[in-house]
Amino acid sequence: MLLFLPRPLTLTRTLCYVTRFSATMSTNLQTQAFAGNPIRSKTPKSTDPFSPTSALESLKTRLLDNTLHCQPQKHHSSLSSSSSSSPDFKVLPFRKGRPLTYSGPGETAPVWHLGWISLGDCKIFLANSGIELKEEALVYLGSRSADDVVYWAIDVSDGDSLASEFGSKQLCFVELRTLMVATDWADQRAMADLAIAGHARALLEWHNVSRFCGHCGEKTIPKEAGKLKQCSNASCKKRIYPRVDPVVIMLVIDRENDRVLLSRQSRFVPRMWSCIAGFIEPGESLEEAVRRETWEETGIEVGEVVYHTSQPWPVGPNSMPCQLMVGFYAYAKSFEINVDKEELEDARWHSREDVKKALTFAEYIKAQRTAAAKVEQMCKGVERGQSLAADFNVESGELAPMFIPGPFAIAHHLISSWVYKDAPDGVQVQTAPSSTSMSNL
Ligand SMILES: [Zn+2]
Repeated sequence: MLLFLPRPLTLTRTLCYVTRFSATMSTNLQTQAFAGNPIRSKTPKSTDPFSPTSALESLKTRLLDNTLHCQPQKHHSSLSSSSSSSPDFKVLPFRKGRPLTYSGPGETAPVWHLGWISLGDCKIFLANSGIELKEEALVYLGSRSADDVVYWAIDVSDGDSLASEFGSKQLCFVELRTLMVATDWADQRAMADLAIAGHARALLEWHNVSRFCGHCGEKTIPKEAGKLKQCSNASCKKRIYPRVDPVVIMLVIDRENDRVLLSRQSRFVPRMWSCIAGFIEPGESLEEAVRRETWEETGIEVGEVVYHTSQPWPVGPNSMPCQLMVGFYAYAKSFEINVDKEELEDARWHSREDVKKALTFAEYIKAQRTAAAKVEQMCKGVERGQSLAADFNVESGELAPMFIPGPFAIAHHLISSWVYKDAPDGVQVQTAPSSTSMSNL
């Protein structure tokens, strides 16, 4: 078989915050879901063979090489191969924003993996769909010199026969949101794969929405292995960089009464409550955005604003390739709620006890396993396409009257760190369940 499945990436322990999903919770977390990408932690200098510049030069040479597909694949980190095939190139295909995925057995539920293919296989697959692989189509994702690999992404949405061709090899293009829910947050490798897929999707979506220069309207062309684009008009040559849309997300806290404000949007799945969030406006500080959004949506005045953590969010609308969720604690100065019904369905104060009950880990684990099983079914061709809501449709067990978004979302960590860490002085707070006990549920 032409296609190969690489060995899992190994991560340093510092990238994982959820293997100790316990008493320390999120105030000690190192990274959120979609952050902590292990192949882009550092950009090599341009002279380094793993740098975007060097890798692009090597890519051009290899694509001209008609024997590309005949090169043996390296299934392990061997540096003995000739310089012409070192570093190894691996490519992650995307179709309509969905990464190529396969599913393998796990300890308690199936585990999804990214469907990396070799450059040679990528060329063949595209040729089978009548598409010539050109260097502009490949976007540099990063590298790992320890593995002797440079990683690329490619959008193959135009290759109509590709989905069925990959499908015959039990590979499937899966929605990133589904993969997000299906990811075991205590699995470092899975969290790393999710971060890589999120970064790749954000870059490819940005390429899709930046085909033309916003200044003069001419076509743009990728530069520096897809890290930026430039206007093709010689009298313009405007350089365009990947877009990030910052969003403030805040847990509004009533210190005096030991409660927090949670809200519901009409698009939420039933029973889900979360933090308030909103886009930052031009000319506005983060703190001002927190106060303005809270006032506009709930009528509550916020005083002190304290930064918590941030999270890349590449699963929003296609027109926004990547949002950056910037999380805050926002301490309320007024407490009467006046909901803006155009923005929110409801907003209410919730006691610490109620919120603690809403952190029902059993539901997250069930949702994760349900989604993981769904990905496996999709890869085996049993089932195709389902809404995210179905991931939370947990049939059995006693359901809590409300729940908050899963550990893949920064809202979860804002809320859970308040519940477990930020009790008023002198109050003893029960710790969250450990990952060990969760895995036994
Ligand atoms: Zn231009």
